[in-house]
Amino acid sequence: MTPDREEAPDSPQWTGWPDDDARRYRDAGFWAGATFGDLLRDWAVRHGERTALVDGDRRWTYRQLDHAADRIAGGLHRLGLRRGDRVIVQLPNRAEFVETWFGLQRLGAVPVHAMPGHRRAEIVHLAALSGAAGYVVADRHTGFDYRRLAHEVLDARRTADEPLRHVVVVGDPVDSGFTRYAELPTDPDGDHVDAGPSPGDLALLLLSGGTTGMPKLIPRTHDDYAYNARVGGEVCGLGPDDVYLAVLPIAFNFTLACPGVLGTLMAGGTVVVAPNPSPATAFRLIQRERVTFTALNPPLVPYWFSEYADSRPDLSSLRFVQVGSARLADDLARRFTPTLGVRLQQVYGMAEGLINYTRLDDPDDLVCTTQGRPGSPADEVRVVDPGDGRPVAAGEPGELLTRGPYTLRGYYRGDAAAAASFTADGFYRTGDLVRQLPSGHLNVVGRVKDQINRGGEKIAATEVEGHLLAHPAVRQAALVGVPDEQWGEAPVAVLVCTQPRPAAAELVAFLRGRGLATYKLPDRVEYVDAMPLTAVGKIDKKALAARLAPAAVTTGPDA
Ligand code: AMP
Repeated sequence: MTPDREEAPDSPQWTGWPDDDARRYRDAGFWAGATFGDLLRDWAVRHGERTALVDGDRRWTYRQLDHAADRIAGGLHRLGLRRGDRVIVQLPNRAEFVETWFGLQRLGAVPVHAMPGHRRAEIVHLAALSGAAGYVVADRHTGFDYRRLAHEVLDARRTADEPLRHVVVVGDPVDSGFTRYAELPTDPDGDHVDAGPSPGDLALLLLSGGTTGMPKLIPRTHDDYAYNARVGGEVCGLGPDDVYLAVLPIAFNFTLACPGVLGTLMAGGTVVVAPNPSPATAFRLIQRERVTFTALNPPLVPYWFSEYADSRPDLSSLRFVQVGSARLADDLARRFTPTLGVRLQQVYGMAEGLINYTRLDDPDDLVCTTQGRPGSPADEVRVVDPGDGRPVAAGEPGELLTRGPYTLRGYYRGDAAAAASFTADGFYRTGDLVRQLPSGHLNVVGRVKDQINRGGEKIAATEVEGHLLAHPAVRQAALVGVPDEQWGEAPVAVLVCTQPRPAAAELVAFLRGRGLATYKLPDRVEYVDAMPLTAVGKIDKKALAARLAPAAVTTGPDA
């Protein structure tokens, strides 16, 4: 840390690590004491003319990416943004996301990672919670006009204590009040660099993936987030020959830093951005750029299988494919390598910190039935009874608590409810139900809240979904608890199926055939053409529950 640099302006707004822990993480070398701006400079020196980034026909060397970061940092500084300012970044998978992100890092401004799918309610919430001064958007994407959204957010924040002051548009701003990304003013004196950040400063704000309520903001520092990416790179054995394909939203923690974009750049490799998540696009780019790894979520996996069967692409460059962000059914995991001829790595983690990985040399059984073990030797995990907080017996399911060098100690501007996510000794309550194997691998069996209580019998939704997904006609499955007079709560299976759809009775018989307890069988089966998804592409169970709840249809004046 440079002593003459002033204290981070917003450090009181979140809880960092206690001094003792911070010292330990620094002494052990987990926290390397560099900002992302410094890191990019260093990579540019080491890998100058190597390709850092590919977006369609456009390619950036490390040196060019470093220059771009300077240009963006300088331009945003000239606009009036300063170190410590929060800037909402809502961009699709385009190279400009990477340029903007590093430009903000070099300036010491803090990107707030919005997802392309977020709309007015979420962005206004994020702007208010973060006190964002800036907003970077695309002009249009997938038919949606983000400039109109920017106007709505500006209006909503006009009289706030911390109003939104600057909108930067990648593409055509139309409105003269917005700044065109390609025409950011230049900062010939490089004034922005003098005010650069320190490694312990806030580097970015990620969104909590919670399925209830509005997202909370997760503070990540340069030190801790760089370690997050580095440890992922070590687990995956990344080197300069690696080529990462960013398929999932690039602002998502999994895509950006597990090890993803940042871990690949740290290793001197190449990042390729996929303009859309379709398997056809991915296969085309894998072949063209000789991609060595990528990351998917479970709903994409069956689509990869069917597209692979149709087009038989050459996937020989792939060393492995990561699947994570939601539970991959064991059955799909088992079919993965035989179908695609590519090694699978399961990844289970959270934007709050802890990331678990199956290792590339783990036996198949662990790879197919567990969600991995912690990435860092300094990650601490406890499995406890969600009721009384006491450790459960070895191998029994319980709530996962975790603490470590890249796991937060408190949310940004968190309220009392947010504080309840932590134990007195600083462990984060993940809300996930896991079992820990003797090898340290974790098996995710559900969510504490994603448990359906049918008259006292507990049903872990994930377990039943796994069985449903094993049926050849079931593409996607969600088990949702709905209020029920007799049982209090009853499980309803919501399914996306291939045609002809199997009858409900057939599915129930299928589940019985797999040895499932009767109380776990869905009371009802609903078929949908597509699942409602959260902004990061997970099945939105809250939306499904709202649709299925009887209250949702009794909206008359007497209701
Ligand atoms: P996010 O912060 O959006 O990545 O969401 C984190 C949450 O997603 C975790 O707390 C889990 O509930 C869930 N999750 C992530 N990866 C997995 C996985 N491989 N298996 C099961 N659940 C997962």
